[in-house]
Amino acid sequence: MDHLATCPLCRDVRAAIEGTHERLISVNQHSIYLVGEHQFFSGYCMVVARDHVREMHDLSGEVQQAIFGDVMRLGRSVAEAYRPLKINYASLGNVVEHLHWHVIPRYADETDPKSHPWAEAEQFKNYRTTFDTARKVSRALINP
Ligand SMILES: [Zn+2]
Repeated sequence: MDHLATCPLCRDVRAAIEGTHERLISVNQHSIYLVGEHQFFSGYCMVVARDHVREMHDLSGEVQQAIFGDVMRLGRSVAEAYRPLKINYASLGNVVEHLHWHVIPRYADETDPKSHPWAEAEQFKNYRTTFDTARKVSRALINP
């Protein structure tokens, strides 16, 4: 973990493992599950690789499969708990170069359900996830 000084997701992983992360859902063998920083999309969660890796293709095949399974389990849990129209899976890493996936439920009553999930990003700050909201989202998920 030599990226703790500069990488916010390494700090998230450290806090998750220490049990102090306020948005933690669970710690898995190769990833952690977090409730997203905002709930503009109710049920928005994240999968973060435990290791500071920039690209999916740099992981071993075994770890790729394990993390893909983690992403799918969280996606299914969000879908079952929140019954969205669609789940958007996003892994970009242009801003934070530590492998992670956004698991974003999309709803029919959005302004534009077909838009990309950052189209209304200026509103996210109005939906910041509190500790209580994080616990509520985490409890709503079924065996993530
Ligand atoms: Zn990192």
